[in-house]
Amino acid sequence: MPEDPAARVDELRGIVRAANHAYFVLDDPKLSDAEYDAAMRELRDLEERHPELRSDASPTATVGAPPAPELRARTHDAPLLSLDNAFSDEELDAFERRIERILGSDAPVVYHLEHKVDGLSVNVHYRDGRLAWAATRGDGTTGEEITHNLRAVAGIPERLSGVPSPFEVRGEVYLPKEEFLRINREREEEGLAPFRNPRNAAAGTVRQLDPQVAAERRLEVVFYGVGRVDDLPVSGQAELLAWLAKRGFRIDGRRDRVTGLDPARDRIRSWSETRHELPYEADGVVVKVDAFALQRELGATSRAPRWAIAWKFPAEEVESVLRGITVQVGRTGKITPVAELDPRIVDGTEVARATLHNPGFVRDLDLRIGDAVVVHKSGGIIPEIVRVIPERRPVGTEAWTTPTHCPSCSAELIEDGANLRCVNPDCPAQLKERLGHWAGRKALDVDGLGERSVAQFLEHGLVRALPDLYDLTEERLVALDGWGPVSARALLAELDRTRTAPLDRFLVALGLPQVGPRTAQALAHRFGTLDALLEADSETLQAVPDVGETTAVLIRDALDAPALRATLDGLRARGVWPEDAARRRGSDALHGISVVLTGALSRPRERIQADLEALGARVTGSVSGKTDLVVAGEAPGGKVDKAHALGVPVATEEELTAFVRERGGDWPPVAPEG
Ligand code: AMP
Ligand code: ZN
Repeated sequence: MPEDPAARVDELRGIVRAANHAYFVLDDPKLSDAEYDAAMRELRDLEERHPELRSDASPTATVGAPPAPELRARTHDAPLLSLDNAFSDEELDAFERRIERILGSDAPVVYHLEHKVDGLSVNVHYRDGRLAWAATRGDGTTGEEITHNLRAVAGIPERLSGVPSPFEVRGEVYLPKEEFLRINREREEEGLAPFRNPRNAAAGTVRQLDPQVAAERRLEVVFYGVGRVDDLPVSGQAELLAWLAKRGFRIDGRRDRVTGLDPARDRIRSWSETRHELPYEADGVVVKVDAFALQRELGATSRAPRWAIAWKFPAEEVESVLRGITVQVGRTGKITPVAELDPRIVDGTEVARATLHNPGFVRDLDLRIGDAVVVHKSGGIIPEIVRVIPERRPVGTEAWTTPTHCPSCSAELIEDGANLRCVNPDCPAQLKERLGHWAGRKALDVDGLGERSVAQFLEHGLVRALPDLYDLTEERLVALDGWGPVSARALLAELDRTRTAPLDRFLVALGLPQVGPRTAQALAHRFGTLDALLEADSETLQAVPDVGETTAVLIRDALDAPALRATLDGLRARGVWPEDAARRRGSDALHGISVVLTGALSRPRERIQADLEALGARVTGSVSGKTDLVVAGEAPGGKVDKAHALGVPVATEEELTAFVRERGGDWPPVAPEG
């Protein structure tokens, strides 16, 4: 006798939710992957056959994992201590004298030198040789569990043999500088506030409740110590690190062992000069007594060990002169004052401009043209004016007058919280930014439509509104400086390609508030067509993963804005309209397959990812037990090691071709006509 479908749907949803919770939150999977997939498949089938049972709250309607309800507290086996700091030579001397006093000898001590990586302390706890949990330092005794967000990080072995139980390894989790910059660019595109520095970004990432978010950001770790050294077959710091490395822990290659403090000072000096070339932010050099026997004798205070000290790099603060304040108009009309400075090298790169955030920031600093100012890099990266040097103010300066009208279109500016905004929908400066955004890599990725050509089109009146892009012709293009038939035809072909862009890319290109690639995918998945999205009310929008109440209202308002409607009408009239997501899902050859890409591949990674997704695959940034296949190009990174450790198959691009074809898909995909 067949079961009541409603009851079975409820039951399956319960099973899948519990399995998600066990997997993502407790890190303790209760179902095998096959069992999990079977439950999901049955649930999907039932929902398809009984549309009345469908629900936006069903696990089939959500992307990725549900967030953990909260981060769990974990008590460290041994406390995580702080480090004493030295900011001067005298403080380093004092450190050495204290060591000599306690040891009762002035024989030279062997020191181990490491960079002080500016990230987040992590303690990884092993029980019976298995990774049990990982936690932040917290108050030193108890931290927050972040295991779910470290699963994707390379260099943290799952299993160990021949170690005491419990066994704890300490390290620093960080975001490489490049990854930090990438994330901030992405956040800017999504209309989110950028992280101030890599440390904050790393902290925000490891403490994310949703492991999917962490998995999309490339966290790294280096280990520098253990909870207790007793029972380990090593007698000093250098040996310990080598021993950890042999067991699969990632350790920093930049380290040194020297006898006496004088060579240590030399090293500190040269490391201070090369610090800007490091892939991570370092805020100093940690000087450690190498021998564990001596470390034991020296002991620790309740706060910090006596056998180590952190020599802090001085933050570079450089003087410059403010030559002017320019005003930028953003894509959404936001007005940003920008400081134009005499160029200076700060922390290794040239700084000639610094954002002044908003008019209030300029007023608070009382910044005047001609002022001598102190510049630094916030978080070592983002140029910022720290303060004015009032004694050096030239006579006769006047306070900056907050603009009242848009520098581009002269429309009157309106106040919007702390910001000023140009709300003229035809503002050329905004249009320029919108066109740039339209052509951007995350959006429609139009080759040949860079800043220069956009400026040209605006200047010659070829483009007065976004849809005009699609009225460009070869004749008009070749009439412009620097254009020939080849480049003109190439651009027109690129633009033609975007006439039927995937819905999610199109949504990113439109620049809806808070809609970056991830949210756009969720919207495309939920609504399938742009017309369906245009009709959705804000309640329906809110049911989409990643879309909160505020965002739903913002998106709804943006969709109703007359300017956006005019743009859409103009685009539709020119045959520019996104492809239905439903039609794209046509081929399901890789449905339910989770793929990770690594190394240098034959085509841009985004393209390969899009093609795999078009076949139904899920492409994620990191390898986990749920990954079905890792596709490795040349010079792959730690992902391949992780795959081997987890038993996940690794394929070359050729093998990927076979993999897709075996499943009835086309690969490489046939390039679209255009
Ligand atoms: P503090 O944050 O000033 O209390 O300094 C101690 C912290 O520095 C530790 O908790 C570590 O997370 C971090 N740290 C970074 N690199 C190292 C390293 N090479 N050795 C020891 N600690 C380090
Ligand atoms: Zn304007």
